[in-house]
Amino acid sequence: MTLVAASSSPVLPLAAVAALAVVTTVCGYALLCAVSPFARCKPCEGNGKRRKHGTSPKRGWKTCRRCKGNGARLRIGRRFFHATRATGQAAQRLHKAGTR
Ligand SMILES: [Zn+2]
Repeated sequence: MTLVAASSSPVLPLAAVAALAVVTTVCGYALLCAVSPFARCKPCEGNGKRRKHGTSPKRGWKTCRRCKGNGARLRIGRRFFHATRATGQAAQRLHKAGTR
């Protein structure tokens, strides 16, 4: 008479689900960075200009410092992608120089 086998620990399936969720999120973000590298600038909401506080609507508009008036910002993941590509090319160049 043993009832121990019925209550197995649910730690492993939970970890697997968590790992799957993390992998899905990372892959989705990488895909997003590859498809659309630019996201809307947050401070100016994509306008490229920001309102100064306490000024009239006609005056007091200034160029957004974050995006320098573009209204778009490069995603952080895309920056990482650029960095890895740059280092990859540098590594290839070094490899070529070494074989000669
Ligand atoms: Zn901006």
